[in-house]
Amino acid sequence: MAIVAKEIGCSHCGAPVEFKAGEIVTTCRYCGFTTVIQTGKAFNFEHSLILNNYDAVRMEGCVRAWMSSGFMKPGDLSKKSKIVEMNLVYLPFWVVFSVVTTKYKGVFERISPPVVKEGQIEKEYNWLVLARKATVFPTREYDVPLAGKIPYDFQKVEAYAKVLNSEMDKDESLELAKQQIENHHSFLIQRNVDRVIDLSSVLELKQMLYLHAPVWFVKYQYKEKLYQLIIDGSTGNVLKGDIPLNRF
Ligand SMILES: [Zn+2]
Repeated sequence: MAIVAKEIGCSHCGAPVEFKAGEIVTTCRYCGFTTVIQTGKAFNFEHSLILNNYDAVRMEGCVRAWMSSGFMKPGDLSKKSKIVEMNLVYLPFWVVFSVVTTKYKGVFERISPPVVKEGQIEKEYNWLVLARKATVFPTREYDVPLAGKIPYDFQKVEAYAKVLNSEMDKDESLELAKQQIENHHSFLIQRNVDRVIDLSSVLELKQMLYLHAPVWFVKYQYKEKLYQLIIDGSTGNVLKGDIPLNRF
């Protein structure tokens, strides 16, 4: 992908703010001021930060502990693996606090004769939408520690960390959250009906916030091959880890 970085002046401190094609909201690395690129105006949503609690040394400890635990892994995984890359990235997320009600009508075919059933599912969510289009991240495995969020503070962001900007605005994220929640409800509905005839959802929005959360992307080498780990920088939990095939 050919990406051209552009620059605008931060409307708060005047420092150059770099952004790439597709990015919609950008945060100044010198003062932490967040700007909506299209309008050049200040971002007026709550912008939060989840703190990273690991440096590279402690993060390697998490990786080694993961390698040494669980019987799915080769016994010499920790001993024979070399960590080749560790990057701390603050990923941008939209958190959609909402109540979603899905009304459905469907056919229950497990009995004879089949019957038509109607019902509704209503649930409350803090639904997380990753504000990046090409980043592979297990969003549904990630239980963002919202209790630990603080107002975005650029001074808490390590100099070696990368902060990614949002590629989605509020409306796009909201629409995506609604679709994802409806898909989740469709899945839940399968318990009650075998074939859906009609389905519609209403999302009641309570609040939306924008946040950056620390995620470590780690690459390790084991027997000539590379594998990736994705680790929550707040808790040290492995969110996704590639395991070499175990050959006994
Ligand atoms: Zn600035």
